[in-house]
Amino acid sequence: MKTKETHQHDIGCLQAIEAFYAYLDGEIEDPKSIEEFEHHMRHCRSCYSRAGVEKLLSQRIADSAKTKTPEMLQNRLRNLMDEIE
Ligand SMILES: [Zn+2]
Repeated sequence: MKTKETHQHDIGCLQAIEAFYAYLDGEIEDPKSIEEFEHHMRHCRSCYSRAGVEKLLSQRIADSAKTKTPEMLQNRLRNLMDEIE
C-alpha cells in the first residue's frame, strides 16, 4: 500500500512557526526537528508568508551583533528560502 505523500511526522502550522523562532534563536539542535520544520516550510506557503520568514531572517542578519542564530542554521535557512522562491 502506498500513500500519495510521505507524512512520516508532519508538524502542524503552529508548531512550524514555533520551530521557526526556536530555529532563529539557535535553540533547535535536533536534526530531526530541523528537517521537520524545513519540510513544513517547503510545503506550506501559508506558513511561509505568515511567518514573514524572509523579512525576519534579514532583520536577524542585519542585527547580527545580537543574533544568536548559528551560521550553519542561517545558511540552511537561506538555502531553504531560495528553494521556496
Ligand atoms: Zn503551515
